[in-house]
Amino acid sequence: MTPIQMVDTKKQYLKIKEEVDAGIQEVLDSAAYINGKPVQDFAKNLSAYLNIANTVTCGNGTDALQIAMMGLGLEPGDEVITPSFTYIATVEVIALLRLVPVFVDVDPKTFCIDPEQVVKAITPRTRAIVPVHLYGHAANMEAILEIAQNHKLFVIEDNAQAIGGDYIFKDGTKKKNGTMGHVGATSFYPSKNLGAYGDGGALFTEENELALRLKMIANHGQQVRYYHEMVGCNSRLDSIQAAILNAKLKQLDSYISARQQAAAYYDATFADNKSLTVPFIASYSTHVYHQYTLLLEGVDRDGMAKYLAEQKIPSMIYYPVPVHRQKMFASFSSSNIVLEVTDWLTDRVISLPMHTELDEEQLQYITHHVLNYINA
Ligand SMILES: *Cc1c(COP(=O)(O)O)cnc(C)c1O
Repeated sequence: MTPIQMVDTKKQYLKIKEEVDAGIQEVLDSAAYINGKPVQDFAKNLSAYLNIANTVTCGNGTDALQIAMMGLGLEPGDEVITPSFTYIATVEVIALLRLVPVFVDVDPKTFCIDPEQVVKAITPRTRAIVPVHLYGHAANMEAILEIAQNHKLFVIEDNAQAIGGDYIFKDGTKKKNGTMGHVGATSFYPSKNLGAYGDGGALFTEENELALRLKMIANHGQQVRYYHEMVGCNSRLDSIQAAILNAKLKQLDSYISARQQAAAYYDATFADNKSLTVPFIASYSTHVYHQYTLLLEGVDRDGMAKYLAEQKIPSMIYYPVPVHRQKMFASFSSSNIVLEVTDWLTDRVISLPMHTELDEEQLQYITHHVLNYINA
């Protein structure tokens, strides 16, 4: 059996090595390292895949969120509603721009922002909501979009973990995650579902004027070189990463299927076990399993992680400290709030290895040892 990793990017690379290597070589031969043809092609290819008018590439997912908030004209003191049960980047950029993060609780089943809590958190200063499609499952966008429309708020989707997933509206229409809000933001960090071999990110929007503004902000506020119309930043997807992503985008649907197959194996093996709750899938979402995260009930989580590590099975806690409890936010008044579901989940989640290259032998070994520990 090959060693088990949380994410096996090497094995995945070897299957598309020829195409990736050729793409990288082309960039080297062209010497167009920045904003070369692969970057423009990738933006077009991703727009076509997601069925959205505009894709703006940038340096990473954190920048994408920041550029989104800058592009929408959010100003210091504006309140932004966000979950605390997320990766730090979602909230860090809010604070960085001197906006005010307003933490709300998540749905205990989907782990994503709870629309009912969003409504309760709205004040006259609220300007935006940032749903996070956590672990590869969509937030309840139909409800969130309705709330946003009623209260004239922006919606910025943090889609770093759910690219390629579908959202299914009540009338049966489907949209890709990241294309429903005013802006969607994503990351191409190597371990993400569409990962580069370095850093990368992108923004999505249907609005052409907004896309132009996002593009300018990512490029020092300029449209014409050396004529800077607004304060921006420097955030670029480089040509080599774009060439890699062009090759990998073609595989995204098969990568998603591979993750779903691994998840189905886990689900089937863990079904009916009272100590384990397998990932929930709401009627409005597909699951693209950025993570396969179990909820433990009455299980010593640290003991289980230690036992698995002894069997050479990695596991992770995403995330060990919810954002509102991070030291970074200690001086924020909003850090004092009580988020019962967030705390409850934080104590109970554990993520198992999940990637496109898990084989049956590995899955059998992992599930055997998880059940071994649980049933001991
Ligand atoms: C990875 C991630 C980000 C940030 O992406 P980077 O490319 O690492 O900056 C933001 N939000 C979520 C939910 C993420 O998982």
